[in-house]
Amino acid sequence: MKAKVLIATRSFGSTSQKPWQVLAEAGCETVRADMSQKMTEERLIKLLDGVEAAIVGVVPMSARVLENAPRLKAVSAHGVGVDHIDLEAAARKGVIVANCPGANDQAVADLAIGLMVAIARQIPSVDQDVRSGKWGRYHGSELWNKTLGLIGLGRIGRGVAKRALGFDMQVLAYDPYVDEQLAGAIGVRMSSFEEVISAADFLSLHAALTEETRHMIGKSELENMKPSAFLINTARGGLVDEEALYAALVEGQLAGAALDAFAAEPPIDSPLLQLENVVLTPHIGAHTQEAIERVGVLAAQNVVQALQTGEPIHRVV
Ligand code: NAD
Repeated sequence: MKAKVLIATRSFGSTSQKPWQVLAEAGCETVRADMSQKMTEERLIKLLDGVEAAIVGVVPMSARVLENAPRLKAVSAHGVGVDHIDLEAAARKGVIVANCPGANDQAVADLAIGLMVAIARQIPSVDQDVRSGKWGRYHGSELWNKTLGLIGLGRIGRGVAKRALGFDMQVLAYDPYVDEQLAGAIGVRMSSFEEVISAADFLSLHAALTEETRHMIGKSELENMKPSAFLINTARGGLVDEEALYAALVEGQLAGAALDAFAAEPPIDSPLLQLENVVLTPHIGAHTQEAIERVGVLAAQNVVQALQTGEPIHRVV
């Protein structure tokens, strides 16, 4: 098979050669986008010239881009979220869209727990204090015996639940597409959205970003959280109204937030950067050696199979 594949993600094949081998063995020629510059629609359209398939990170695969890529047959997200790909336009154009579920969920679940401990014990700021010669006394919060509220009980949500049960946390979840039996079998109690928000000591977001979930955590939800609670977002920035979050953090409506995902990335102008009760990481949820290799292999297999058989391993549209 002779096909040109665009790689528009920084991490593809960065921890192992295996993803590159999958493409090479199938006879694909790869074109790597320079990801050090901002990826605009204009740049993507140019890069997709003569390209049959693309493996993409969070880049704007809009209707305009898809309509200006006449040879494009398949796109695989380098991850799970496909909110940056216009799925309707892809379906209209007959472009197959695939993703990589189950390849990075353990990595993100690890980070969500890490962020809970980091914000509850102020690890980043006390680290800075020790480095600058301060040896203070700090009063953090425990995870033990607390209530974890999960919004979204998919692969990552379930991974977080499993870990939280090891901390003796009570785990509540809201996910309209998951049934109570499945949740009960893993020790999670399904609840209403309102109950999860108001009962959580730690509220961790793991829902996909869709029109239904955009800004699902806004002013009124933040008002209904416990003032001692922490919000953890390792899913997508768009789930949270960041202006309302900033106001809630300043006004003491919640104790703190730990964020791996932002409305605009990087969040250079965000006022959240000025707050002490916030821990920030640069969308590193999926960035472990192991997960980058697994996602890369799966994304490569998705495009190879889509081109060879018309059916990728994990089809979205
Ligand atoms: P998944 O598809 O297994 O789970 C997503 C869950 O969201 C599903 O169970 C679905 O039913 C639920 N959901 C959909 N609409 C909902 C709603 N209105 N309210 C509550 N739940 C709803 O995906 P996953 O692997 O668990 O990943 C979850 C999200 O995490 C992805 O969509 C992606 O945006 C994000 N993610 C972030 C990183 C990172 O680097 N920080 C890495 C991987 C994934």
